[in-house]
Amino acid sequence: MKPTPKSRRKAAPLLAFGAHPDDIEFGCGGVVACETRAGRVAHFVVCSRGEAATHGTAAQRVAEAKQSAALLGATVEFVELDGDALLEAKVAHTIKLASILRRVRPGIVLAPSLVADQHPDHARLGQLVRDAARLARYGGLKELRSLPPHAIDQLFFYAVTPEGEPPDITPVLIDISATEIVAAWTAAMDAHASQARSRNYAALQLARARLWGLRAGVGHAMALYPNDPLVLDSLAQAGRGARRF
Ligand SMILES: [Zn+2]
Repeated sequence: MKPTPKSRRKAAPLLAFGAHPDDIEFGCGGVVACETRAGRVAHFVVCSRGEAATHGTAAQRVAEAKQSAALLGATVEFVELDGDALLEAKVAHTIKLASILRRVRPGIVLAPSLVADQHPDHARLGQLVRDAARLARYGGLKELRSLPPHAIDQLFFYAVTPEGEPPDITPVLIDISATEIVAAWTAAMDAHASQARSRNYAALQLARARLWGLRAGVGHAMALYPNDPLVLDSLAQAGRGARRF
């Protein structure tokens, strides 16, 4: 049977962007584990080597990120923008990220929330990815002509910390309760061992996922925030709402 456009969309890769080597794992790692277990290809683009962190050298952090991505069934590449803690919103960066979108040709894109949190790089990268998803579609942009235009299906934001959760966007909750998913996600977070020396970030993320899970009536869930209204082919895809209290 020839694949329908819908099934091709479903098979398109997931592409996740992070400002630092651990952002994707902490902010949406459980979702990635769900998707790769279901057979979707996942690729990470990390936009610094975490060289401004108090703990861990750039080389250690790159090694941790590679191990962590592998534990989630994903591949990872590093892209040089301005460096850790120095990221600025520049058109040249948008073009660079748009060229990655054209190369990888993802269906779903995950990026840090636009709401400012503790680290200024997070929200700035979210803006750059949102703008890059737009430019990746533009056929006439000469800076991107070496690769054919690409329109993604959906951009979701993830919040690296609770402070970055957008208060005005109703999240989509992904049920990550399966034991092997939580285990893979926990192992991926623990792989960033250098960062555990300052705070117990993994415990915070697991507690967040547990709270979303309790609100939704499942074990653990992670919240994603759609940049655009979701389009469903049928109400059957709407699942169920989370209102347990
Ligand atoms: Zn970060």
